[in-house]
Parts: sequence; C-alpha cells; structure tokens
Amino acid sequence: MAEPVKDWRYYYEYMKKNAPLAIYYPICGGGEECISVCPYGREIWDVVPMITPMFGAKPKKRYRPVMIHPEKCRRCYLCIQACPTGALHRSEEELKHPMLTLLKNTLKLFFKKRYGLKWVFREEHREKFKKNNP
Ligand code: SF4
Repeated sequence: MAEPVKDWRYYYEYMKKNAPLAIYYPICGGGEECISVCPYGREIWDVVPMITPMFGAKPKKRYRPVMIHPEKCRRCYLCIQACPTGALHRSEEELKHPMLTLLKNTLKLFFKKRYGLKWVFREEHREKFKKNNP
C-alpha cells in the first residue's frame, strides 16, 4: 500500500534537523530553480509529493524539492541566490514573516542581474512549475 502523502511541515523539520538548508514550502513555487543551479543537482536533491499551500492557495498535493543527500552539499549557497521567493534559507535561520519575504523577493526579481525574472521564466522552470503543481 502506498504511504500517505505527508504534510510540508514534516519535510521542513527534516531539513532543519538534517540539512544546512531548509525550505519554507508555503512560499515555494516548485520551479526547481534551486536544483537546476546546484552543481550537484539530483545527487543532493529529490522532488517529493507533500501536502502544502502555495502563496496563500489552499493546501493540496504538490511536488517540492527535498535534500536527500545533505552531506554532499558544499555550502556554496547558489541555490539561495537563485530561489525566486525566499523560501530557501539556511537551516539555522527562521523565516519570521514568510509573506513579507515572498513579497520582497518577488520585487527583487525585477532588479536582480543574475537569477532575475528572465531566468525564472525560462522554459525549463515553467515546465517544472507545471509538473510540480498538478
Ligand atoms: S548550497 Fe550549493 S551545493 Fe548546497 S544545495 Fe545549494 S547549490 Fe547545492
């Protein structure tokens, strides 16, 4: 029998405890920008189903990145720079105001030289967004 799909908090706590990075899933869009920019990509990351809201939309099954091999992470933090929403952050930090973080990071996209709007809307990320938000 298939395991029931877990709530996003399970993976959030898992990453906080076991990985150098954590994702606050309610403000993650699922475009996999973090995985595409990571030099180790799928060696570190997987995409798993979880029950999560998205940008205020009601919780349902969506697919989101999880670090399955955090020990391989080199802490270059390229993935944090590339995250368009601010959902990805260092595990020791807390996102005190997630919606404010989302707003600030969305506005920043218009001015970022690297990983700005054009990059986020690349075909590859649009495809991932569609796949991960069925
Ligand atoms: S910090 Fe660097 S190595 Fe670690 S997951 Fe992010 S991009 Fe990959």
